[in-house]
Amino acid sequence: MDSFEKNLEKYAEIAVIIGVNIQKGQELAINASLDSACLVRKIVEKAYKVGAKNVMVQWTDDEVTLSKYKYAPDEAFEKFPKWKVGSYEEMLNNGAAFLNVTSPNPDLLSDISPERIANWRKTSAIAMNNVRNQIMSDKVSWSSVITPSKDWAKKLFPELNEKEGINKLWEYIFKITRTDLDDPIKAWKEHKTNINKKLEYLNNKKYKRLIYKSEGTDLTIDLPSAHVWIGGGSTTQDGIFFVPNIPTEEVFTAPLRDGVNGTVKSTMPLNYGSSLIENFSFTFKDGKVIDFSAEKGYETLKKLLETDEGALHLGEVALVPNNSPISNTGIVFYNTMYDENASCHLALGNIYPSCVKDGTKMNREDLKKNNLNTSLIHVDFMMGSSKLDIDGETEDGKLEPVFRNGNWTV
Ligand code: ZN
Ligand code: ZN
Repeated sequence: MDSFEKNLEKYAEIAVIIGVNIQKGQELAINASLDSACLVRKIVEKAYKVGAKNVMVQWTDDEVTLSKYKYAPDEAFEKFPKWKVGSYEEMLNNGAAFLNVTSPNPDLLSDISPERIANWRKTSAIAMNNVRNQIMSDKVSWSSVITPSKDWAKKLFPELNEKEGINKLWEYIFKITRTDLDDPIKAWKEHKTNINKKLEYLNNKKYKRLIYKSEGTDLTIDLPSAHVWIGGGSTTQDGIFFVPNIPTEEVFTAPLRDGVNGTVKSTMPLNYGSSLIENFSFTFKDGKVIDFSAEKGYETLKKLLETDEGALHLGEVALVPNNSPISNTGIVFYNTMYDENASCHLALGNIYPSCVKDGTKMNREDLKKNNLNTSLIHVDFMMGSSKLDIDGETEDGKLEPVFRNGNWTV
């Protein structure tokens, strides 16, 4: 077996053992792009070998997706198939694990009208809301891994030919996901221990407010008194530990819905629905976006903010040191799962219920009553850099440094 095959096998093992942590007799539902077939085949094999009962793969293809956006009538974007929602509900009831294996293509929909993209996102978000809430509440384990696409490789390494570009991107993916280490499973466990130390520190401090200062950013974020910092992975309601994002470098919690004030400037492009928003900023008052700007993708950003009331409020506060395996590559990946793990970020939209004590037991109304944001969307945007300072304010009003020049002080 050559070294690529070996790495591919190790990467599949990370997805199955660390990512969704498949249990004996469990079902696994995989959403995969055709470009990722070489990895998906290994994942399916591995999953059965460790005891999965049934592995179901649903394929998607960029060309097919693009054709729909280009040529389908408007009504094709207004209805989400009921059988599809039903299949998810059935799998959830069976306790299946969910795995996404995607090959990002950041510019796939760049020539499609933002309205069409927003319509479909909204239609599917409404149809899948109940399913998504159950998944976001960690009813079952779920995870995402990515593989190269030729267009993505071309965007990142325009100087290389197609084959070289894809190989280069695989190299980075194997590095960033710790696949290229001798014992990736052990490395992931050590990584978890390191993240736990930060979580313990922050959960003991119970800061009531975070104060962000950087170029173009002057922002305060109040945290709910019952906030919980989580990271490194989650635990299902049945007690199975899993890692939703491979890689993951962040620790994160939920902000108070009405407690965000000031201005924040993005430090990386945001790829939303396969179209790019660049150099944007938001101004918040009492938790709500009251002004925004974007040098590129203004209309897309506007549509995103118009999704619903909760799209104008924050749902996640995440800390990531500037000194991390992804940011150390010096590459902007134009992919949220990679870029968010290279930079402190915030998310517009729904909170993760597990970021609040007893949050997974709360319904939408309970969350609202507790001043926590709910929305059809959850969209991360990056605002960290080597210039970012963050202070934490303690219950008695003392300010303590948490980040200086983009890195942990603790
Ligand atoms: Zn995050
Ligand atoms: Zn997020």
